[in-house]
Order: sequence, then structure tokens, then C-alpha cells
Amino acid sequence: MVRKRRYWALLFVCILLLTTYTGPVQAQGGLLLLGSTGPEVAQVQRMLAERGYDPGPVDGIFGLRTRQAVISFQETHGLARDGIVGPLTLAALKSAGAQPGRSERAVLSGRKVVVDPGHGGPNPGAVGASGTREADNVLAIGLSLAQMLKAAGADVVLTRDADVQPRAPQKPSAGQLEARVLVANASGAHLFVSIHNNAHRDRSISGMMTFYLEGDATGKAIARVMQEELVKATGMKDRGIHGARFYVLRNTKMPAVLVEAGFISNAGDERLLQDPAFRRRVAEGIFRGIVRYFNGS
Ligand SMILES: [Zn+2]
Repeated sequence: MVRKRRYWALLFVCILLLTTYTGPVQAQGGLLLLGSTGPEVAQVQRMLAERGYDPGPVDGIFGLRTRQAVISFQETHGLARDGIVGPLTLAALKSAGAQPGRSERAVLSGRKVVVDPGHGGPNPGAVGASGTREADNVLAIGLSLAQMLKAAGADVVLTRDADVQPRAPQKPSAGQLEARVLVANASGAHLFVSIHNNAHRDRSISGMMTFYLEGDATGKAIARVMQEELVKATGMKDRGIHGARFYVLRNTKMPAVLVEAGFISNAGDERLLQDPAFRRRVAEGIFRGIVRYFNGS
């Protein structure tokens, strides 16, 4: 009898604990999904925007754009792509640079970066076996990078933001390479980052490479951190950093690097490069390399 009473008392305490425990969790951390509204939705939208995703206006209304941004975030962070903000997605959002986000802002504010997606317009760059165009891949990566940099407080100059040939207003007749350099040199930017995909006759060759102007110590240091971050962000084969005499590296006045993000001639790399989540990871790698360079680390 005594035992039975103890059992009931214990059960009662358990129920009490459960109800008092789950109460506040439900109130703060209930699932947010399409159609949800309120300050918690606005907080999620703010975090998404700060991490370089596009949830639309921060208005506390969980619409289709917010859902798409959540799915993109889940994709890049290895979460189930359900477009629902539950405890796992919320935790990942909070840890994905809430603290670093502030220091990134401190590092990048007042910095100007030229983001140069290669090729464009009549010049598709390298074309893969299944028809993937370098110009499209690097534009998507460049736009994503520009968004991340702006969200973190940097000034960004894109040499092109559509499938067009870059143009320099001060010299409309300039060819596409000269136009990139003219735009960069007129901008007073602190860094120039050109984005390309590689191609090779040997289709088995894959991976990530970063180039700097031969003999330029600063460029080499930037290339080193960028390559490190790119390999970390994408998991791609590390093909190292290399000195080169490319036109855009030789003629830009500011420190410059050129990223060859994957080999479009390789079936595996080509497949990755078509994937919006992968393109975003490439952009994240470049972004972290830029932050490390400006941070002096
Ligand atoms: Zn190229």
C-alpha cells in the first residue's frame, strides 16, 4: 500500500515536471512553417538574411520566399529539406554565425570587394558534357557571394550581374577582360575576386584551384586562405594554389585572386556545379576566405 502511494506520488511529480517543462518550449520553439506569423518568424527571417539567404522582407510573415530561404539553408547545412523551422533548423541557424556574424560585420564594414564572375553574354566560357555553361555557374556563385558580403556590411562591385558581357562606362569599346579591369580600378576596391570553372582535356581531373599573380606575396597569402576555406566549404579535391599571369591579375591595381571552382570537364564536378546548394557553398568558401584576409588571419 505504501509502495503504491509512492508510485502515484512519483507519477504525479513526473506529470507535473513534464507539463511545466513542455509548456515554455512549445511557447518559444513551436514549429514555424508556411503561413506562420509573428515576431519569431521575423527573427528567423533576420537570421536568414544575415547569413546570406533571401527570405524576402523581414515582416514576420512566413511566405513562399521565406520557405525557399529555409530550404536553401537546410540544404547547405545537411538538414532535412522540409522548409519547416523546428528545433534542429533553429539551432543550426543560431550557431551558423550568430557570433561570427558580428565579427564578420566588424571585419567587412568599410571594405569594398570587386566580385568578377567570368565570361557572360556571347562568351559562355567552358561548356560541360551535359551542356552546363561556366558563365551561368560563376554568375550564380558571384551573385550569392555578393549577397553574403553585402549582408555582412561590405561594399560590393559586380563586374556583371546578368548573362551579359561586362562593360566599362568610361570605355564602352573595351573588350570583356579590359572592361573588368577598368571597372575594378575605377572602384577603389580593396580586393578583386574573379570566379571561373576550370576545364581539362583529361576528364578525370577534378577539384578546386586558386590563382594569384606570380610573384605577388599578398595575392599568394589571400589565395592560400581562400583555397583552404573553399576546400573546407565544398569538400572538393584540393588542387592547390598557383602563380599565373592572367590579364585580370596583372592589370588590377588592388590585391587579386582568381578562383577556378571545379572542372566543368569532369562529370562529377559538373553535376555539383549545377546544384544551387553547391554553388552557395562555393560562395561561402570565398566569403570566409575574404573575411580571413581582411581579418589578417
Ligand atoms: Zn573561365
